[in-house]
Amino acid sequence: MSNALHSAASAPKIGFVSLGCPKALTDSELILTQLSAEGYQTVKTFRGADLVIVNTCGFIDDAVKESLDTIGEALTENGKVIVTGCLGAKPGADGGNLVRQMHPSVLAVTGPHATQEVMDAVHRNLPKPHDPFMDLVPNAFGVAGIKLTPRHYAYLKISEGCNHRCTFCIIPSLRGNLVSRPIGDVLTEAQALFAGGVKELLVVSQDTSAYGVDVQYRTGFWNGKPIKTRLFELAQALGELAQEYGAWVRLHYVYPYPSVDEILPLMTSGLVLPYLDVPFQHSHPNVLKRMKRPASGEKNLERIECWRAACPALVIRSTFIAGFPGETDEEFAHLLEFMQAAQIDRAGCFAYSPVSGAAANDLSGMLPAELREERRARFMAVAEAISAEKLRQRVGATMQVLVDHAPGLGKKGGRGRSFADAPEIDGVVELLQPEKISKTLKVGEFTKARIVGTRGHDLVAQPF
Ligand code: SF4
Repeated sequence: MSNALHSAASAPKIGFVSLGCPKALTDSELILTQLSAEGYQTVKTFRGADLVIVNTCGFIDDAVKESLDTIGEALTENGKVIVTGCLGAKPGADGGNLVRQMHPSVLAVTGPHATQEVMDAVHRNLPKPHDPFMDLVPNAFGVAGIKLTPRHYAYLKISEGCNHRCTFCIIPSLRGNLVSRPIGDVLTEAQALFAGGVKELLVVSQDTSAYGVDVQYRTGFWNGKPIKTRLFELAQALGELAQEYGAWVRLHYVYPYPSVDEILPLMTSGLVLPYLDVPFQHSHPNVLKRMKRPASGEKNLERIECWRAACPALVIRSTFIAGFPGETDEEFAHLLEFMQAAQIDRAGCFAYSPVSGAAANDLSGMLPAELREERRARFMAVAEAISAEKLRQRVGATMQVLVDHAPGLGKKGGRGRSFADAPEIDGVVELLQPEKISKTLKVGEFTKARIVGTRGHDLVAQPF
């Protein structure tokens, strides 16, 4: 056995489970990168590992249950468990730590965004290997570290935490106030990702439009040049960088502040994808007030019209809550009218469900569960009809598609996404068998395709 193989076989093995949203995923990527750099081997199983790390989600009750169940499973199958992530910051009924209360035998518990604390716990329980062959293991993305997404797309987290206090949300109590990453670091990571083969960069945070607010938009540096810590400057620089590599930049979690208007020309000029993920949550000013939503005073319908006038190709994705405490028939009707008028391209909707620790639990007028669910279903019927019509309008068009799946070089077809589809949350483009025998499809490459039909939330296309 060679030295390198021997080292890999004897390196301490850590089982890793990542639950939760893209922000939690980027925390997992940081921890995995550090583990790999220090010579630990990471695996996806509990059994046979020397220790297990579970990155948890603590947002809605179902996610809390899934996280607690996963910790329980890891304890049963392995016994040595470190817990990190949003659930780790959540208090239990007695005011102590919820995870410790439910699973007292875990080795350590940290909150989200705590790479160093997790590494300290790992070092205490499974000493760091000293092996020149394993230390500083190189990986495809250099300074950007290890990514858990397929190689051709990656999430880029630009800030941590949030300054808002939406009444249905406990994220600020779990992740703290907004802390923007230095713009130079963000751009350096983006460049490493593009250089490593990423063709689609998904910008994420809790509140992307607020990037830089906490540091008063201070001037940072990148490549020796001054650049403001602000969304417009960041989006422009990312777009220019992406262009060099023939890649896409997609913006998520953008709130409809007036400052977003200046991003639209970047979309029209092709630097950034004409796609905005804007979590509106509701339309009625009184509900938005009870929710304490950011930008609730903005005239959202007018803002959308102005965005579409500036960039007619714009696709808007959003999420909504139906049946928020106190929601009247009239307020719900306002939401349905808003959907019709705003023609939101992609919408998801939750029936309101109380999150323990959220301020909304103290609001009066909790609606019966059946009514909340009925309103969700009525909302989705409207949203799906809009979305289906929008998809139908694409039939006959030619679109650029990023290939996600193409067995056998796509000789029998494959699957991809257009600018209108973010991974995991939107539809896909089903690619038919190419007409030309010489045409191949490769994962992570773009192909042009003619849209020939629709299938549910998806498009069907002929690659050429
Ligand atoms: S903007 Fe509101 S919903 Fe989003 S993370 Fe902040 S408090 Fe939560």
